[in-house]
Amino acid sequence: MDNYKLLLNGEWRDSERKLTVTNPADGEPFAEVATVDRAGVAKAIDDAAAAFEEWKATTALERGDYLRAIAAEMESRAERFAELITKENGKPLAQAKGEVAMSIDHLLWFAEEGRRAYGRVVPPQAEGKRHLVIRQPVGVVGAIAPWNFPLVLAIRKIAPALAAGCTVILKPASSTPLSACELARCIDAVGLPKGVFQLVTGSAAEIGMELLENPVCRKISFTGSTEVGRSLIRGAADTCTELSLELGGNAPVIIFEDADLDQAVEGILVTKFRNNGQSCIAANRIYIQDTIYDRLVSILSDRIKDLRVGNGLTDGVDIGPLIDDRALSTALGFINEAVDAGARIMAGGNRFGEEGNFLVPTLLTDVPEQVSCHQQEIFAPIAALYRFGDEAQVLKTANDTEFGLAAYAFTSDLKRAFRVAEALEAGTVGINDPVPPTSNCPFGGFKQSGWGRELGSEGIDAYLETKHVSIGGFD
Ligand code: NAP
Repeated sequence: MDNYKLLLNGEWRDSERKLTVTNPADGEPFAEVATVDRAGVAKAIDDAAAAFEEWKATTALERGDYLRAIAAEMESRAERFAELITKENGKPLAQAKGEVAMSIDHLLWFAEEGRRAYGRVVPPQAEGKRHLVIRQPVGVVGAIAPWNFPLVLAIRKIAPALAAGCTVILKPASSTPLSACELARCIDAVGLPKGVFQLVTGSAAEIGMELLENPVCRKISFTGSTEVGRSLIRGAADTCTELSLELGGNAPVIIFEDADLDQAVEGILVTKFRNNGQSCIAANRIYIQDTIYDRLVSILSDRIKDLRVGNGLTDGVDIGPLIDDRALSTALGFINEAVDAGARIMAGGNRFGEEGNFLVPTLLTDVPEQVSCHQQEIFAPIAALYRFGDEAQVLKTANDTEFGLAAYAFTSDLKRAFRVAEALEAGTVGINDPVPPTSNCPFGGFKQSGWGRELGSEGIDAYLETKHVSIGGFD
């Protein structure tokens, strides 16, 4: 069993109580990680506050140098990172390598963005005054990450926070803390000053409570479920702790009859089955215009039956396991409910093998809209297809959800592309593009999919306070 310690105020700390990490491909525990209790989180917050005093005074150029050094260290351990991600999360190794590459790109992006945290000089309205608008780091930040992209979603918080001059305490998901531990090793290896970055694991409720209730922690940046996001909002009411929230999704994908069908099929496969179907921007409701519906069902069912299921470390595997047995039984429940309501299974529909949490990639057609897999996030390799007649009708249905993280449309008509992109209520819209996120563009949700944006030039805003300095006496 591999053992991992926590990086706390520049030291590697062990603990009696451990977190056990299990490989979802075989159900075998393979690593243990130290934990902290609530008092340990309080200490980490105090140490982060002490470190903030010097870190905020460094130049953006120096902080950028640290971020570039972390990126280089990660690059040198890229294979190890990818293997760890596959072992803790289950995704195919090629996708884990993609996650590492994207994490490095985010670090390099924010290494430069820190230098562009510009303020303004504003023309005065009264004689003898000068107005400056300056931007300053918010202070100690608690970063809470989910298990589905355990490395890159942590980096989307850590990189801009450090670039802005904040100090960070990272809490990874309990099922996938290992890539965060490896990241802590990289950060330690480049000599980031003690307390600027710390890693905690343990009871999510206790850690969350301390980050919320301790007034020294000025900000929480959370990625995870809408349910936990709502509980953080309620908890923040007493302290007014600032929150950035990246929450759940229920992405519609609309295939119009004028789409390039080959491109649409590839797009559906990527946006639905990437990360074993466990992506917040995954295709959740796939609407196909009725004139091309039967043709696409036939092509898609052949392609989905060809997807190879297995351990993500095996060459050529397209679909790995779901994160745990609860996720598998939820997925089977979605399928059974849809079938009972009249949906047809054109591929998959059942568990794969006896070991691990594998679901055979599934295609459901003619799914009624009242079932749970239409209303809720599926988070499994289940493609649910719906027919539609015209553009106005499908846009209304596509927007009829409490979520608004991502939406997709496939069309060859330029006017329609703009019309649809502007009408869809989502923070990210992919037109003929199944994987829109990129370091240099903002990412985040409308409606109950979240507050604020990560990435892009907007991504650093969450970690900066804006201050107006008014100077009088010039008359
Ligand atoms: P989750 O259950 O909400 O957990 C996310 C993180 O929050 C984990 O680190 C978890 O710790 C922690 N947590 C749980 N309860 C907490 C509490 N009371 N206070 C503070 N932290 C708490 O979500 P998940 O199942 O890991 O992730 C899947 C969800 O994330 C999906 O809904 C998905 O759509 C969403 N997501 C959104 C985005 C986005 O960018 N919008 C990206 C990826 C995923 P433990 O693991 O220890 O419980």
